[in-house]
Amino acid sequence: ETIGENLRNTVAKHPQQEALVCIQQNYRATYTEFYSQTEEIAKALLGLGLTKGERVGIWSPNRSEWTLLQFATARIGLILVNLNPAYRENELEYVLNQAGIKAVFAASQFKTSNYKSMLENVRSKTETLEHVVIFEDSWRDFLQLAESISSIDLMAAEQRVQFDDAVNIQYTSGTTGFPKGVTLTHHNILNNGYFIGVRLNYTHLDRVCIPVPFYHCFGMVIGNMACVTHGACMVIPSESFDAELTLNAVEKEKCTSLYGVPTMFIAELELPNFDRFDLSSLRTGVMAGSPCPIEIMKKVQAKMNMKEVSICYGMTETSPVSTQTIIGTPIEKQVSTVGTVQNHLEIKIIDPETGDILPRGIAGELCTRGYSVMQKYWNNPEATNKVIDANNWLHSGDLATMDAEGYINITGRIKDIIIRGGENISPKEIEDFLYTHDQISDVQVIGVPSEKYGEEVMAWVKVKEGMNLTEDELKEFCLQIAHFKRPKYWKFVTEFPMTISGKIRKVEMRDISTKELG
Ligand code: ATP
Ligand code: MG
Repeated sequence: ETIGENLRNTVAKHPQQEALVCIQQNYRATYTEFYSQTEEIAKALLGLGLTKGERVGIWSPNRSEWTLLQFATARIGLILVNLNPAYRENELEYVLNQAGIKAVFAASQFKTSNYKSMLENVRSKTETLEHVVIFEDSWRDFLQLAESISSIDLMAAEQRVQFDDAVNIQYTSGTTGFPKGVTLTHHNILNNGYFIGVRLNYTHLDRVCIPVPFYHCFGMVIGNMACVTHGACMVIPSESFDAELTLNAVEKEKCTSLYGVPTMFIAELELPNFDRFDLSSLRTGVMAGSPCPIEIMKKVQAKMNMKEVSICYGMTETSPVSTQTIIGTPIEKQVSTVGTVQNHLEIKIIDPETGDILPRGIAGELCTRGYSVMQKYWNNPEATNKVIDANNWLHSGDLATMDAEGYINITGRIKDIIIRGGENISPKEIEDFLYTHDQISDVQVIGVPSEKYGEEVMAWVKVKEGMNLTEDELKEFCLQIAHFKRPKYWKFVTEFPMTISGKIRKVEMRDISTKELG
């Protein structure tokens, strides 16, 4: 099945059901309306002269046009390339050329970035870019092009699309290295979205609040694709994340499910007016993207009415979900593990050196095989061959354990492990411990260079508002853990360096601290 065929089925089953609500834009559409709008856009794209397999960039915060373009491009076999909203000119230029993008759709500006002028500046430095459509200026003119294309032309274009065609390229967020273009097919993301929804018991009656960015798999697959495959409604609170607007959307739109990376849930729970929001419509939601602290999971269950909150684990290269907790998971496992292998996928945990499968409970590299594994890194066979082996296993670079019942725990990234005097230390374990301190709102642990031990443990701590926590108090608190795990250095911060998808940039933290410590 292709994404277009799947959408058509949903429209046939739930024509009057609401499909997409973008609150900040004051946009609402039923599935019938959504379908006909994607049709107009698909025709206009054909009117630009774009043909199957060509790349179309999108550079925009969360707006209705994003979702509409996602499905319009898929319908006619174009490959949508998500451009990170935080890119500067040199990154934009790199990706436009690397993916050979022919048309870009963009918001005129976002936060402090003027997309329009940045696009004008890089245009002469790209070989393939022919069209730039700015939502605020040229979107209407672009839609006019639809008139030149007949329904027969559109149908012909739709019929050429195959389930294993590439449909999307996403550049990895660069938390560990240079961005690579993860190339995903219809088969990859349609199945991934569908089974995520299955595990959350989604039906056409669900209303899913999506404050996470579309440019990342979390928004466009766990969000949009899971909704469309089940006929549920996508509720978009704002162009970019805002804790208050998010809870407002949940209340006003009676959302049944709420998404976020851990830091988003933390921000919501800490809103001074948190208690005034009526969250009684919520029943589930997804936390994903980075380690989900048990304490935060418990709070989300207890205070946000999300009794069946689910954790997804995965990476862009796996479309993105490899494991997920399922509705009905025993409470303890629900908050402390990333669930079990997703339906019809395979995972294994291996010794990264020998490749042998490890016994249950022993940490090793998690590998995934099946429908969610990306087709390739765009135009980069060497990098592809490094992560997908000859037997089609994708090697994640993440360390994990599997217990006797198949529940998975992510214990860290191979690259993040701190090695202090030959002792392997998991930053996550120390973070989980520090989260139990009731004055800490957020904490991240890294390794910093040390002459004596190779590396020393350092913690960056965000203290709850109004609290006055000292380094001595923290040191005292850490007497509860083994001496080699106790952070030697502490830094009090109000923010962490983050990617726009809400991931902590530990590489940057390490650089900053290494410099500061001299
Ligand atoms: P890059 O590959 O460029 O360094 P990235 O890996 O951060 O960027 P993503 O593909 O968005 O980009 O992130 C996937 C990674 O996020 C996983 O490999 C894993 O380390 C982490 N992750 C995702 N979900 C979870 C989770 N539930 N628990 C722990 N870690 C998670
Ligand atoms: Mg990665």
